[in-house]
Amino acid sequence: MENKKELRNWLDAFGLTHPLVIAGPCSAETEEQVLKIAHELKDTDATVLRAGIWKPRTRPGNFEGVGALGLKWLQKAKEETGMLTTTEVANPTHVDLALKHDIDILWIGARTTVSPFIVQEIADALKGTEKVVLVKNPVNPDLSLWLGAVERLYSSDIKNLGVIHRGFSTYEKTRYRNNPEWQIPIDLQTKFPDLPLILDPSHIAGNRTSIFDLCQTALDLNYDGLMVETHYDPDNAWSDAQQQITPATLVQYMKDLKIRKEIS
Ligand code: PEP
Ligand code: MN
Repeated sequence: MENKKELRNWLDAFGLTHPLVIAGPCSAETEEQVLKIAHELKDTDATVLRAGIWKPRTRPGNFEGVGALGLKWLQKAKEETGMLTTTEVANPTHVDLALKHDIDILWIGARTTVSPFIVQEIADALKGTEKVVLVKNPVNPDLSLWLGAVERLYSSDIKNLGVIHRGFSTYEKTRYRNNPEWQIPIDLQTKFPDLPLILDPSHIAGNRTSIFDLCQTALDLNYDGLMVETHYDPDNAWSDAQQQITPATLVQYMKDLKIRKEIS
């Protein structure tokens, strides 16, 4: 129990269960879309609703998110369903707006973790917060950059931290959009054994067919949670359409996955 005390602290504080299940669309698209997905996820294993408001697109010309307007939709989803909310923050302005709208959990995306300057600015903007902050691995398989981001946040007195493994980009074509490198988060945990570890199978897979197996591997490796992109109409999602699954599929997966109940 002891080596997971951070997890217990913030899971307990929020009354959450283990494994933590975060679900929701890649992007908030409309108020109706956010609310419909939240209602479909209510009363499932998913206790936290995710939706990207500011979308970091590798190349321009794609949907870049609805912006701050979406924060109100997340607030409304929380009021209506009781789910906690999470969104990506990529600069201090995002942090201020997310805190103002009482978003429960903030995550730092893979394209942000690569930049020590921005991570430091985010850490400064969050100084001393009680909010949960989740740090995705950097896009490239660089343990030091990931560790550095965690260290900057700890140095800013942010105690409710966790990390998300979302795979690593490679130039070679593989079956995954971003290769899982299972050893890297294990190495990270040798430095920070208390840090909860969450898998994002969606951005690893880049398709729907590998999501289940990736979740099972993570649970077998004793991961503390899953973050799964979920949409009622995945094919017509405004971003990451190939990898999102429906809330009903997620419910089925949670039934079929072999889950270790205890925190070790
Ligand atoms: C996302 O979660 O939608 C996202 C953009 O993730 P990543 O930073 O892992 O690419
Ligand atoms: Mn996405």
